[in-house]
Amino acid sequence: MREIAGLRCDEVLELLPGALDGELDTATAARVRAHVAACDQCERFGARYAALVQTLRTRHAPASAPDQALRARLRARLAAERPGPDA
Ligand SMILES: [Zn+2]
Repeated sequence: MREIAGLRCDEVLELLPGALDGELDTATAARVRAHVAACDQCERFGARYAALVQTLRTRHAPASAPDQALRARLRARLAAERPGPDA
């Protein structure tokens, strides 16, 4: 586990949501940014995470319909993959 800009990767991953939401104080947010800029592991994760947050934020449609469809798909998938009583 590397420590860059005074933060370890696991700390950065914990702080990242707050950093993206602007909830961290300036000094901490700057350290998170400095770490992410210097750490390829966190940079990759941070970019994916930021993109995901953007996607969720720009999607204003009610979540219920797609959510239910997704759950139905997951249930069907789980049922199909679960070994039967004879397996
Ligand atoms: Zn890192």
